[in-house]
Amino acid sequence: MRAIVAAAGALMGGLPFERYVFLIHATSEAGGGLEHASSSSLQIRHDLFKDEGGYKRLAHLAAHELFHLWNVKRIRDRALVPYDLRGEDYTRLLWFHEGFTETIEQEILLRSGHLDGDALLRELGASYTAYRRKPGATTSRSASSPTTRGPAPTSRRPTTS
Ligand SMILES: [Zn+2]
Repeated sequence: MRAIVAAAGALMGGLPFERYVFLIHATSEAGGGLEHASSSSLQIRHDLFKDEGGYKRLAHLAAHELFHLWNVKRIRDRALVPYDLRGEDYTRLLWFHEGFTETIEQEILLRSGHLDGDALLRELGASYTAYRRKPGATTSRSASSPTTRGPAPTSRRPTTS
């Protein structure tokens, strides 16, 4: 985790906090994360660490939620300013908030030594294949998609992929 935080700070020219806490919740349910201003909540399966892939998935999730400190917490759609925590907010930029964050998540993992170029290419290939196999992947476009909800708990890839 320290290497991930250090890599993010080096990439962004510093860290916008004195103290940051990763709150890890190990449950029997699927994983995900939620970013906060000085912490993130990481939900992982309790059996995540039974193989090395689990550690890598946690590294991805931590880097992702950490980068939301910038992309969502500091850079966000005008529709989300100010946050209205009494109800749902809607944005058409969830693709950017999540997609760009996933791109930088990978950069942070490359810089922190949690990912190498070959592994990144394998992950991108697997992700693209999974995307292309989704029903409607070749017929829908994000620009015509319905308005998406945000800033919702981060929808992350399942802990098994
Ligand atoms: Zn996210």
